Amino acid sequence: MKKPELLGQDEAALAAWLAAQGEPRYRARQVLDWLRKGVLNPAAMTNLPKALRARLAEQFVCDPLVLEARECAADGVRKYRFRLASGARIETVLIPERERSTVCVSSQAGCVYACPFCHTGTLGFRGNLTAAEILAQIAAVQRDLARDPLPAPWRNEITHIVFMGMGEPLANLAHVLAAIRWLTAPWGLGISKRRITVSTVGLVPQLARLGDVGVNLAISLHAARDELRNELVPVNRSYPLARLRAALNAYPLAPKRHITLEYVLLAGINDRKADMEALVRFVRKGRERVNLIPFNPWPGASYAPTPLARAHEIAAWLVAQGVRATVRRPRGQDILAACGQLAAKEAA
Ligand code: SF4
Repeated sequence: MKKPELLGQDEAALAAWLAAQGEPRYRARQVLDWLRKGVLNPAAMTNLPKALRARLAEQFVCDPLVLEARECAADGVRKYRFRLASGARIETVLIPERERSTVCVSSQAGCVYACPFCHTGTLGFRGNLTAAEILAQIAAVQRDLARDPLPAPWRNEITHIVFMGMGEPLANLAHVLAAIRWLTAPWGLGISKRRITVSTVGLVPQLARLGDVGVNLAISLHAARDELRNELVPVNRSYPLARLRAALNAYPLAPKRHITLEYVLLAGINDRKADMEALVRFVRKGRERVNLIPFNPWPGASYAPTPLARAHEIAAWLVAQGVRATVRRPRGQDILAACGQLAAKEAA
C-alpha cells in the first residue's frame, strides 16, 4: 500500500494519527513546528522520542525530493534541481529581494502544453506533482537558507510563493489546492493568500475553481490575437481569447487587487505595433496589468528576445494608452534561470 505523505497533512489528521500511537496531544504541534521550518526528516526532529521518529519515517513518505543540483547567481537567485521518486526532474527557483523573498515552484514534471518558446514545453510530460512534492520544494529552500544564508541585503525569510515553475498548475488543480491549503493554514506556513500567485495559460473551466480560493492570478497571455496565440500558446485553440476574456471578467478580485497578464516579448513575433494595439484592446484597464518579460533564450530556441530598450519603449507606450505595464527585471541570468533550463541541462 502507498504510504501517506507527511508534509501537507492537516493538523486534525496528524493529531488523530499521533493519538492512535498513544502520543500526547502536544506532539502534533511539535511535528508541525518542524515541518514549518522545512525539516522533513524525522531523525532531525530532536524533541520527539526516538521510537516516534522511527514510526514517522516508517509510516509516511517524509521527504519526496532528492536535491541533485543547486546553482547560485551573482544577484542572489538560487536555482535547484530535484529528482522525484519516479525519476523525473523538476526545478525550483529562489528570487530574493530586499523586502521579500519569492520561491517559484513547479507543479508538474514537464508540461503537456508545448508552448514553442518555453523550454519546459520541449521536455515532454512526466507527471503531476503531489501536494507534498510541491511543498517539499519550499522546505528544501528553507533548509538551504538556514544552512547557507544569503548575504545582505537579501531577505532570507520566504515571504511569497509563485506557481510559475515547470508545468501548468491548473492541470494539477487538486494537488495545487492541497498545497495552497498548507501554505495558508495557521497550522501550516500561514502565508497570506495575497502573497501566493498561480500562473496559468488559461484553462477556462478550472479558473472558476481557483477564483474561489482567493490567491493572485497571472495569465500567460503572450499574444492578444487568436491567430498568433494559437501558435505561441497552443491551448488557445481549446480556450480562445473570447472565452478567456469572459473567465477573467468573472474572476473574483478583492478591492485593489489585479490580474497580471504575462507577456514574453519575442522579437518580430509578438512585439509589433499591431500586437500591442491588440493587447491594449484585450486588457481591462484598472483590473488587469501587463508584465512584459524579456525572453530568456535557451539552446535551440527559435526565438530571439526583444531588446531591453525596446521593451521599455513598449511599456511606456502601453502606459500612455492607460494600461498599467512594467518590464520584468531579468534575474539569475548567469545560472540559466529561465524555466526548464536546469532540468534540461541534466537531460542533455
Ligand atoms: S509556458 Fe507553461 S503551459 Fe506553456 S509549455 Fe511552458 S510550462 Fe507548459
